[in-house]
Amino acid sequence: MTPYDVIVVGAGAAGMMCAATAGQRGRRVLLIEHYTKLGEKIRISGGGRCNFTNVGAGPANYLSRNPDFCRSALARYTPRHFIAQVERHGIAYHEKKLGQLFCDGPATQIIDMLRAECAAGGVEWWMPCPVDGVTHDGASFSVATPKGAARAPALVVATGGLTVPKIGATPFAYRLAEQFGLAVVPPRPALVPLAFAPAALARYGDLAGLSVDAEVAFGRARFRENLLFTHRGLSGPAILQISSYWDGRAPLSIDLLPAVDVAAWLAGHRGSSARLDTLLAENLPRRFAQQWCEAHDAARPLREIGDAALERVAAALEAWSVLPAGTLGYAKAEVTAGGVDTAALSSKTMAATAVPGLHFIGECVDVTGWLGGYNFQWAWASGHAAGGVA
Ligand SMILES: Cc1cc2nc3c(=O)[nH]c(=O)nc-3n(C[C@H](O)[C@H](O)[C@H](O)COP(=O)(O)OP(=O)(O)OC[C@H]3O[C@@H](n4cnc5c(N)ncnc54)[C@H](O)[C@@H]3O)c2cc1C
Repeated sequence: MTPYDVIVVGAGAAGMMCAATAGQRGRRVLLIEHYTKLGEKIRISGGGRCNFTNVGAGPANYLSRNPDFCRSALARYTPRHFIAQVERHGIAYHEKKLGQLFCDGPATQIIDMLRAECAAGGVEWWMPCPVDGVTHDGASFSVATPKGAARAPALVVATGGLTVPKIGATPFAYRLAEQFGLAVVPPRPALVPLAFAPAALARYGDLAGLSVDAEVAFGRARFRENLLFTHRGLSGPAILQISSYWDGRAPLSIDLLPAVDVAAWLAGHRGSSARLDTLLAENLPRRFAQQWCEAHDAARPLREIGDAALERVAAALEAWSVLPAGTLGYAKAEVTAGGVDTAALSSKTMAATAVPGLHFIGECVDVTGWLGGYNFQWAWASGHAAGGVA
């Protein structure tokens, strides 16, 4: 059996960062990846341009049962550190909006960079190579594979979440955590489009492609960005963001006119012969305004709408209540929320406190970033934290 210092399972964003970091510290590292293609999620990320970090990334941009868990790793490996690496590799990039950094060229540049960093650390690869099982004798981990077994005192699990199963996602991390007695916060799709319930689908399903600037709220979370109508429901950045917070039961509240003092605007047209949907079309897509007014029994001239009814319309425009039927699931989600419970892990090393040497990093951990480069920043930071000690 070949001895290593560190075995990393999963060669995605977090796994490659961890392997490179450990290897460049002089550790003998084996990186095991079961899929045939390397870094597929990186390749398809950010519309093919990889939104590789967000310059403003901080703990407030992450969901977790323990919102403070990500603080240490994020503080020790910041967006500046990753940007410096990107610049060292001569990769051109730009800020798109809201601190989101994208490659100017294809996302494969980031994969090539990570592969080169692994090579600089002398990382050995087994790929494609599934893992058949893991055992621990108290001192070291033994990983069984069709290529044979490998042994190391440190095992880093970087197999990601359940999103986009067709490019290699597996529940490996959750099963392994359970094997070692660690709790797992139930996984669920996040940053995911939402499906309309049948009545809303019948009304708004034909509006696919329309978008509005909206503020979408659930509980204390609120995001102002574009909301996009699809042939199945709602998507766009505002919806993807709020989907991570949605509990699957209560309605979302959508301010359809966040830039307008709606009550004053409508009051200014009280008594007008213009139809409400025609007026709304000054600030909303016409076809949506028509459907929305019909649904709210307000597709009439303003003079036919009484004061109390007009106030209700104004309130409904600022808080359109939508109860989705559900999410579009892991096939369409960008990330998996939930995962290995952070209560079981050290926030400094990402190691299980009860199982010395067993680390979990990246998306498989119960730390989920907002849309906008935050998830990769967590992958880099948690990978770096484990790679610095394993
Ligand atoms: C379409 C899409 C676009 C995205 N765009 C962005 C973006 O622009 N910016 C951003 O910050 N985030 C983005 N994300 C999220 C981001 O890709 C993930 O959060 C990030 O890749 C997580 O890194 P990871 O290393 O933890 O997991 P992954 O990147 O998923 O890597 C896990 C690796 O483990 C391997 N693996 C799984 N099971 C096993 C097993 N049993 N044995 C061996 N290997 C295994 C997988 O094949 C994979 O290579 C996007 C996600 C999707 C789906």
